[in-house]
Amino acid sequence: MGRNECKVKTKSMRCYYKYVKGVGNVLIPGCMGTAAYETLDRCTCESKSDYNFEKKEYNKELKEKEQYIKLLESEIKNLNSIIDEQQTPTPTGD
Ligand SMILES: [Zn+2]
Repeated sequence: MGRNECKVKTKSMRCYYKYVKGVGNVLIPGCMGTAAYETLDRCTCESKSDYNFEKKEYNKELKEKEQYIKLLESEIKNLNSIIDEQQTPTPTGD
């Protein structure tokens, strides 16, 4: 139960199986239990506090990304206004 949904404090690191062509499923350990015994049965990375920690980290990263997107959007606005200026036919007088 819960063997495949282990969580660990390290950012985006948790025990999981990675399929390697020609080799099969390779266990990638995210905690000492799994690393030492090479089985998810010994996984120690699941706990509620760890989950909350991960969620917090996730939200933090999401906020940073959103801010970055906002930055890019304002830059696009600036660039667009420059393009608009260039494309506006300047009255050459008649
Ligand atoms: Zn683990």
